[in-house]
Amino acid sequence: MAEAGTRRYPQQLTNHLRELSQEKNDELLIYREWTFSHTEDTGAASSQCPCGKTGIRYLCYIDNQITRSMTFVGTSCAEFFDEEMKEVFQLTLGLISKGINGKYKGVQSRGEKKRFEVRANSNIVLKQSRLHALFRFVPIYQRGDGKWEIQAFTQHNNLTLNESYAMKIKSSRWSKDYGKGVVTGITFRVIQLERIKH
Ligand SMILES: [Zn+2]
Repeated sequence: MAEAGTRRYPQQLTNHLRELSQEKNDELLIYREWTFSHTEDTGAASSQCPCGKTGIRYLCYIDNQITRSMTFVGTSCAEFFDEEMKEVFQLTLGLISKGINGKYKGVQSRGEKKRFEVRANSNIVLKQSRLHALFRFVPIYQRGDGKWEIQAFTQHNNLTLNESYAMKIKSSRWSKDYGKGVVTGITFRVIQLERIKH
């Protein structure tokens, strides 16, 4: 485990988070109050991370578990959070920036989300245990035949079964109280979709 004192947090980001956190002294504890909320594509590299870095396009929103404040960080600041959060940042920012290819497999049984088969060696499959460590419900499933699928909301209609699509996906955390305590999950939403021509 990294010692709090030896870790170099960006001063500007730390000050920003401190203002919105309950903890006011211990930097490690300040960073630990924050959890993943959702990713956002601003459409242009014109945002500024609270650390001072400019030219940011993809943002990772985080919220404070105690104060309920919300803010965001850019891609490079993901590394200052703990290992699990870092993985979640990297995976979700990868899905919204580089995107992922998926073969359309029809609508989910309840008809709300669409199913896309993804490669078994894609990051989202390889690292899905990291998402499961933080969230109870993660829309990544292994089928009976061993193939992997993700389920995502999308406005795109007229998708052709078994055709492949390049997608950019926004991830959001949700939480719900089912009476036996709060459960959390991740939702995928396709924000950009293009058919891959053969
Ligand atoms: Zn930053």
